[in-house]
Amino acid sequence: MPREKDNWSTRAVNLQGKYNTKEVWHDAVGEALHPHTNYFVGGNTKFYGAALFRLRREDFGELKHWGGVSPAWPISYEDMEPYYTAAERLYHVHGERGADPTDPPAGAPYPHPPVSHEPRIQQLADDFARLGCRPFHVPLGIMLDEGNPGRSRCIRCGTCDGHPCLVAAKSDAQVVCVDPALEQPNVTLLTRAMVKRLETIPSGREVARIAVERDGAEEIYAADIVVAACGAINSAALLLRSANDRHPRGLANGSDVVGRHYMGHVNSALMAVSKCPNPTIFQKTLGLNDFYFGSEDWDHPMGHISFVGKLDGDTLRGGAPAIAPGWTLDLMARHSLDFWLTSEDLPAWDNRVTLDQNGGIVLAYQPNNEEAHRRLTAKLKSLMARQSKCGVHGHECHEGLFARNLFLGQRIPLAGVAHQNGTVRFGFDPRTSALDANCKAHEVDNLYVVDGSFFPSSAAVNPALTIMANALRVGDHLKTRLA
Ligand SMILES: Cc1cc2nc3c(=O)[nH]c(=O)nc-3n(C[C@H](O)[C@H](O)[C@H](O)COP(=O)(O)OP(=O)(O)OC[C@H]3O[C@@H](n4cnc5c(N)ncnc54)[C@H](O)[C@@H]3O)c2cc1C
Ligand code: SF4
Repeated sequence: MPREKDNWSTRAVNLQGKYNTKEVWHDAVGEALHPHTNYFVGGNTKFYGAALFRLRREDFGELKHWGGVSPAWPISYEDMEPYYTAAERLYHVHGERGADPTDPPAGAPYPHPPVSHEPRIQQLADDFARLGCRPFHVPLGIMLDEGNPGRSRCIRCGTCDGHPCLVAAKSDAQVVCVDPALEQPNVTLLTRAMVKRLETIPSGREVARIAVERDGAEEIYAADIVVAACGAINSAALLLRSANDRHPRGLANGSDVVGRHYMGHVNSALMAVSKCPNPTIFQKTLGLNDFYFGSEDWDHPMGHISFVGKLDGDTLRGGAPAIAPGWTLDLMARHSLDFWLTSEDLPAWDNRVTLDQNGGIVLAYQPNNEEAHRRLTAKLKSLMARQSKCGVHGHECHEGLFARNLFLGQRIPLAGVAHQNGTVRFGFDPRTSALDANCKAHEVDNLYVVDGSFFPSSAAVNPALTIMANALRVGDHLKTRLA
């Protein structure tokens, strides 16, 4: 990732998409898709908002949703718990245990105190609490020391979510894991290296050759153990590209699940515009999970409410929302609270990654479980209409909620692949999963897939901490195997 001033430019990052891959994918009907993803060291954590949630304990079991069943995982929350604790320590997570009513039990307190709310967000938290909700501080992986701001690595800036951190204070995978690993004498990192195919020995039971394209030339590597960690879409694409006589539907794909069950959450960004301005700089501190599993009037899970980084006029120009009469984009951005709503999408057989005849990625996706998302949006609308803490306007301060189409001309679920998961699911049964409980391919003895692919269900909180914790879990297994 080049380190340069544009890292913190909303114009360069959001409007011009400077760091996005220039790859063009296609949707199910052949329309071009410009994916909002990047291919730098550290992957999408370079750009993430660092909201680092554990899945809820119940997310590991089977959950009934309005749109169908969210399947159980082959491991329990208790299996993952020690690794969540380790991942939170590794990624410097700041949070407050137990304030979120859906928090699962944890083996240790958060390693750092929660990130404070700025005054407008605190006002909203107070309003939510007065209305009977239990707002909480979002667990965040940023290296902020509010007790000692002069020495804090993180300066609490307004360009965190969606941007790389210019001062290396965001707990991303490069800063926290890759760079320290490179200090070891036996670790080598190849950049500009795209793995094109994995080739097996004649029996098909082992990967023998890793074919890499590097600066236009092919290079071949070999390893005793091979771990694919390309992100859910690209790991599936790699296995599909690696089809051979023994694996005619794609490597490790006797079950035909590779590429299928793609999930990415039902997400929307909603701007709540108030008469009073919202001068918040770092906005992503408040979360609400009161409707995660349902409510008194609806007995199905709805999802999670939190924030995106503070939007500005430049960012809005990249996907202009319906503008309230008398407002400009800049003015709206100065007065908006910018919510991020997440509901669980369910694993559907036909929501899938395939390849076109040139080996390019095709992503077919029909959103499901949308009623949950509509209900969640209605809950937020109702709460916002009942705010009263504004000393100037009372509850009249709130002007309304506006959909913010983050991605101009493209539906969020398709080009917005930020939360991609599910395409190489793990499970006990080789007929219905590609990976075993250790994320090893059922059909290949030395191949593991360790990224967002393994999720059998997507839950409704952000995925990265679970991907990190699982990587540590599989790491322990590999240590035993290699001993
Ligand atoms: C703007 C944004 C905000 C987000 N905010 C949050 C958040 O607040 N909280 C949260 O939990 N999650 C968030 N996410 C999601 C989070 O970043 C991802 O869930 C996480 O990074 C996925 O990790 P991964 O290992 O599966 O894949 P990735 O992070 O995508 O890493 C895959 C890596 O593989 C490389 N690669 C791909 N194909 C190949 C190939 N064929 N050969 C060689 N290398 C290859 C890529 O270059 C990349 O470095 C956000 C994502 C985005 C884009
Ligand atoms: S300085 Fe802090 S708030 Fe700004 S990008 Fe870095 S980690 Fe995020």
